[in-house]
Amino acid sequence: MTDPETPVIEFRRIGLTYPGPPPVAALQPCDLTVERSDFLAVVGPSGSGKSTFLNIAGLLDTPTSGTYLLDGIDTGSLRDADRTALRGLRIGFVFQSFHLLPQRSALENVALALVYNGTPRRERADRARRALRQVGLGHRIDSLPTRLSGGERQRVAIARALVTRPSLLLCDEPTGNLDTTNADSVLALLEELHRDGMTVLVITHDPLVAARAKSTVTIRDGVLSLSGTATREVLG
Ligand code: ADP
Repeated sequence: MTDPETPVIEFRRIGLTYPGPPPVAALQPCDLTVERSDFLAVVGPSGSGKSTFLNIAGLLDTPTSGTYLLDGIDTGSLRDADRTALRGLRIGFVFQSFHLLPQRSALENVALALVYNGTPRRERADRARRALRQVGLGHRIDSLPTRLSGGERQRVAIARALVTRPSLLLCDEPTGNLDTTNADSVLALLEELHRDGMTVLVITHDPLVAARAKSTVTIRDGVLSLSGTATREVLG
């Protein structure tokens, strides 16, 4: 169990320069602390460095400078297999386009996440059912994604991210494929999860989405800067 006082994310002078040629400084060295139970949005226009930030925070890419502590663990010193294991254990991903298996029920889609982390078969369905209830889909457990609205599909995807009990819910444009009503219900769910103690990080180009977070960080031309009320220092 991680000490609740330990930040979920700690970036110390984290930066990424693509080698090129010519080299592109996609993320300038920055400091960022995301405390447990925070709800933070990283907002910026296209090409600003959001995907670069997401890939580093999600342990999908390694920075070219700095130190990244996830739950206090120095990720820079890990071998590939350990980074992958840490990602699976500590981070739940939510993507713009849901990434659900169309021929599998909501329950099966969620339970599948537990196959990869080695949860015994007999526990999977129960935990998936609980996660679906948590996102308000207790009545749609056996539905195929094709029978669900966009908002409901994203709720299934959120249940799938939560079922492994991650430290961090990392959401990449979670409302990008949704109309305003469905987007609003997904954002309300993220707010609720945050109130219940989940650490939520949303990456978006949409200031209206960012406005729902507790605090906001702006990224522009690879420079991260503080733009909301927060207890974190951010400097490009
Ligand atoms: P966003 O997600 O905000 O659209 P990105 O993080 O994808 O921004 O890109 C930030 C900058 O890095 C852009 O200038 C982009 O062209 C550049 N970039 C992204 N990926 C690569 C890469 N593999 N090699 C070189 N430059 C890249």
